[in-house]
Amino acid sequence: MSWTFPLSERVRNLKPSPTLAIDTKAKTLKAKGVDIINLSAGEPDFDTPEHIKEAAIKAIRDGFTKYTPVGGIPELKEAIAAKFEQDYKLTYRPEQIMVSTGGKQVLYNVAQAILDPGDEVIIPVPYWVSYPAIVELAEGTVRFLPSDPDKDFALDLAELGSMLTSKTRAIILNSPSNPTGAVYSREDLMTVAALAVEHNFVIITDDIYDQIRFDNKGPENIASLVPEAQDHVIVVNGVSKTYAMTGWRIGYLAGPQAVVKAATKIQSQSTSNPNSIAQKAVLAALTGPQDEVLKMKKAFLERKNYIMERLEAIPGISCVKPKGAFYVFPDLSSYYGKKAFGKEINNSLEMADYLLEESRIAGVPGIAFGDDRFMRFSYATDLSIIQEGMDRLRVALSNLNS
Ligand code: PMP
Ligand code: GLU
Repeated sequence: MSWTFPLSERVRNLKPSPTLAIDTKAKTLKAKGVDIINLSAGEPDFDTPEHIKEAAIKAIRDGFTKYTPVGGIPELKEAIAAKFEQDYKLTYRPEQIMVSTGGKQVLYNVAQAILDPGDEVIIPVPYWVSYPAIVELAEGTVRFLPSDPDKDFALDLAELGSMLTSKTRAIILNSPSNPTGAVYSREDLMTVAALAVEHNFVIITDDIYDQIRFDNKGPENIASLVPEAQDHVIVVNGVSKTYAMTGWRIGYLAGPQAVVKAATKIQSQSTSNPNSIAQKAVLAALTGPQDEVLKMKKAFLERKNYIMERLEAIPGISCVKPKGAFYVFPDLSSYYGKKAFGKEINNSLEMADYLLEESRIAGVPGIAFGDDRFMRFSYATDLSIIQEGMDRLRVALSNLNS
């Protein structure tokens, strides 16, 4: 008798993270010697700054290798609170902070902590790939809020107002945005805060790209703009992007004590504390010199300008100028319906496959972010790689004919 291993309906309905899947495929091909231009994952190409690595080595040598408090070591929580004070003028007590295994796990813990089956969570489109899955794993219902590239992907406040129901539990904001690089205006954030207070919903603000902004404004979020709404706001952040620490897996949350307590309870029954050594490294990252962060930001700005210039020179592409993060999200749909080498391209998945197979450029299809017209390319990689990627993209698109 053949045996079909019994898997839960939950996992059968779950799609693996497309960004991680494509990145793994690109890295595997590269390791086999295939000449791949990997513009897929949102992962800074820089090495983690030296003083952060040294702090981790010291932690190991000092034997800091045991369980820590579930929500993080007290000195790290204090450093995080100081950072909120410094960057956002927001005051949090250590009981209002939790450290987790990456921003992704923070979001997972929060969803598990605040959602009951059928609770609605509003997610602006385009969205980061994991938001819908994280909500659905907590049995929440996703309500998508479309946005318009012609309006720089701004929040559609009229539509948001009309979507609110008695079941609306939360909205997830991500500014600067992955994948579009959009930054929400202060006025729009203020309106969302007022709606949240009036209609009693939670604002989850994913600020993971808050240090990578190109508008010369400091980091800001909805709670810093509307302090009266702070009780409604859960701030999610982490060190993966700002300090080039994707592999270390540290993220953190600040918010009302009740949600921190609940999320910490979930964490105590799932992963326990985040890695002890990584916590010491992050303490050094947050309290040490920030010049490497500024250097990386400068490089991202230079790359953004370069990649935008190249995209704008390719006929048929339109692309909203990113104001932060390290992605471009061009609309390639004017090439849909065209053919190259006998293959017709009709959607973003076929476009991504075509670019990978014919030109060996790895990018992420827009459908993974909720909009099939687009492709996402990360420019968190060396300029020479971006240059080669854009050369190949230009040729690949010019080979598509009706
Ligand atoms: N939010 C957004 C918008 C992201 O792009 C990422 C990507 N890594 C995360 C959260 C989670 O990052 P991490 O788990 O590495 O902290
Ligand atoms: N957040 C990054 C991205 O969007 C890393 C991959 C992931 O965590 O899904 O590419």
